[in-house]
Parts: sequence; C-alpha cells; structure tokens
Amino acid sequence: MVDESTACPRCGRWVGKPLVCGECLQEQQWFHRGYFGFYFEDRLREVLHAFKFNGRKDVGRHLVSLVRKKILSFSDTFDCIVPIPVSKRRLKERGFNQSFIISEEIARMTDKPLYHAVLYKIKDTKDQYTLSREERKKNIKGVFAVYDKSSIEGKRVLLVDDLFTTGATAQHASKILMQSNTREVVLFALARTSS
Ligand SMILES: [Zn+2]
Repeated sequence: MVDESTACPRCGRWVGKPLVCGECLQEQQWFHRGYFGFYFEDRLREVLHAFKFNGRKDVGRHLVSLVRKKILSFSDTFDCIVPIPVSKRRLKERGFNQSFIISEEIARMTDKPLYHAVLYKIKDTKDQYTLSREERKKNIKGVFAVYDKSSIEGKRVLLVDDLFTTGATAQHASKILMQSNTREVVLFALARTSS
C-alpha cells in the first residue's frame, strides 16, 4: 500500500518523506492533491490486469475495499465523484469502465454522488502504458470534454482512475474539470508506479 508519510502529497511518488517532489514543483498542477491505493509493483500488475482486461469486476471491488480506511480518511475533502472515462470503442470492447467500478465502490463507502455523464473521452487513444513519457503527453491532448458542467460547478471533485503512471491523463482530465468551474480536483488512483 502507498504510505503517505513517505510520499509526495500530490502525486504519491516515493520520496522517503511527505515532501512535494521536484516534478510537482516544476509543472503547473491542475489537481490539488492525490491519494493512491497501492504501488503497481506490489504484485498488483497481474491483479489489475485481471480486473481491467479479463472483466474481473469483483477483483476491482475487492481492491477498493482493502483501502477503505484510506478513502474514508479523506472523504471530507470532496463533494462528488467523477471517473476518468474510456472511449466508446474501449467501452464496447471491455464492456465496462474500470474507473467507474472503482468510483461506484467509493460512492457506496462515502455516500457521495457519482457523476459518470460529465466527463467524456472524445478521442480514442493508445493505451498510455505502451508509450514513452513524451508520447503520453501528446497522446492525451484534447481527448477529454465536459458535456454537462452544472453538476460539478463550484464543487470539489474526486477524480478516479485505476492506474497513475506519469500523471498525464490525470492532469488533462483535471485541467478540463477546472476549466469547467470545478472548485477543486482531488485525485484517487487505485494504483501508481513507485517512481
Ligand atoms: Zn509529486
């Protein structure tokens, strides 16, 4: 599990102390702070793969339940929940959006509203993990759109993703939410890479 006392409070990168890391200081940050369940390396790779690609929603739900305490510890910092969307094509292919399943669990735990028809993925992209850091940034540009901002205006949004790597996806989704008059974006990713 990610231990907040040894990680950057924004992006969860392991830095040995609770200090904002160099990268977070350098770039403009669109989300206010990040919370993370597990490090990807914690034997999680296969488990997440089963959840995401083999349709094991139960595995996803179980992983969220393991970090329930952590989620409840920051549940007073957001008003509503928005999952990172997948494209229509991917949704058809997989049958579900893994971030939506995670969001559903968080909504159940915290009793906060879940808005899944706010943020859309309007452009199909290659899977981020197959790309280099620079390619990822290009790949994700202009892919998200907010269709109905009335439910998130003035609200503190918990943006939910399954896996955080470079943060490019989270940054772009947060940016478009902030540009749609969201008050603040807090991020939760079920897993993140440790570096
Ligand atoms: Zn950081």
